[in-house]
Amino acid sequence: MAFPLYEKDQKTLSKLQNLRFFPLAVTGGNGSYVIAEDGRKLLDLSASWGAASLGHGHPAFVAAITAAAANPAGASILSAASAPAIRLGERLLALTPGTGERRVWLGHSGSDANETVARAVVAATGRKRLIAFTGAYHGGTAGSMAVSGHSAQEGSDKAEGLSLVPYPDPYRPFADDPTGAALLDQIEELLAGPCPGEETAAFFIEPIQSDGGLIVPPPGFFKRLAEICARYGILTVSDEVKVGMGRTGRLHCYMHEDFTPDIVVCGKGLGGGVPISAVIGPASILDFAVCFSMQTLHGNAISCGASHAVLDTIETEKLIDNAATVGGHLLNSLESLKEKHAEIGEVRGRGLAIGVELVTDRETKEPAKKLAAKVVYRAFELGLVVYYVGMNSNVLELTPPLTLSAAEADEAVAIISDAISDAAAGRVDDAKLKGFEGW
Ligand SMILES: *Cc1c(COP(=O)(O)O)cnc(C)c1O
Repeated sequence: MAFPLYEKDQKTLSKLQNLRFFPLAVTGGNGSYVIAEDGRKLLDLSASWGAASLGHGHPAFVAAITAAAANPAGASILSAASAPAIRLGERLLALTPGTGERRVWLGHSGSDANETVARAVVAATGRKRLIAFTGAYHGGTAGSMAVSGHSAQEGSDKAEGLSLVPYPDPYRPFADDPTGAALLDQIEELLAGPCPGEETAAFFIEPIQSDGGLIVPPPGFFKRLAEICARYGILTVSDEVKVGMGRTGRLHCYMHEDFTPDIVVCGKGLGGGVPISAVIGPASILDFAVCFSMQTLHGNAISCGASHAVLDTIETEKLIDNAATVGGHLLNSLESLKEKHAEIGEVRGRGLAIGVELVTDRETKEPAKKLAAKVVYRAFELGLVVYYVGMNSNVLELTPPLTLSAAEADEAVAIISDAISDAAAGRVDDAKLKGFEGW
């Protein structure tokens, strides 16, 4: 196959921003499908890493950003308040349980939101230490990489007071304890010793660790972790950037866990495909100073319009229920593929955030990294967009539009099954992977 548009991209746009798995050049999109340069309609099970939460070209989204562009309430909230931004803040506060005076900070991306939180919690509390999980991806800017623990960012500078602890992973458990209790003991020891709890400002969590391998924590883990944090006055920060906004069958993913984080970070799906992020948290943190975290286009009227369309459509089309039911169906169908494909070690997820971990051997759980690269490449050839994640680069990650139908889910499962068969049988040439190192 020839990909002239893709080749032009490689000669024109910077590779610093590339994380490529196959030569896809997109020229348009509709619903759950993107159109490739050769005119093929590809079923999009990534939705640009979950950002296109309403799918592509949803009429409510188009109407909202068109209206916002036609009569914009300014372009920024730095030096003038703006009606759509205020209303978005009010809606996010109403949708996010919490106590005390709270505020909403609006940014452009998950990265700037997490960076702002990391800086603000330290500055506002005077506590210098932070904790995050190994495998965590909190963003791609210096300040968000500084609190991340993903292998793709090895060599990036970490925050001075950062401690990383293992993520509670029932499939590859810490100290052979899939309940996470041994890990909680370890965290207690950390806070009583080398990373004193009284000096720790915040604990960053992902309620499902997505880029680290779509890992679903054991039940009760985060509730107990939040109790430990509360004892020391450590703020819990739930990074909902990928798995929030209805994706898991609840509005916020932490809502599965029976605890209330102090700070909630939203991004990706919040904008339905345009840049916007939000931090919801205590006024003591988010109001502690002025001019502390400023970029010109905060609260941009078009971005806010898009977010209103996302929140409206989640309600009118019952997309949280759809994520739960279609996601449940997708999970079950993928689970049943295990009978046919010994390469599938585990299928896990919640709602429309699903991971398929590929291994060379179910006993040893040896990660099948190269196979994962070939499976996603083959899926692309067969008409499906799906990428892989994980510290071992071996977990297919499914974060489709929240509007996905059961029939589309079935189409995706059939292609994934064929792609695994073809890749495992050696029908994907090694040479094709050149230039598609992924991460
Ligand atoms: C993608 C992601 C981010 C960073 O968001 P950007 O929009 O890429 O800046 C932060 N946290 C999580 C959990 C993410 O998945």
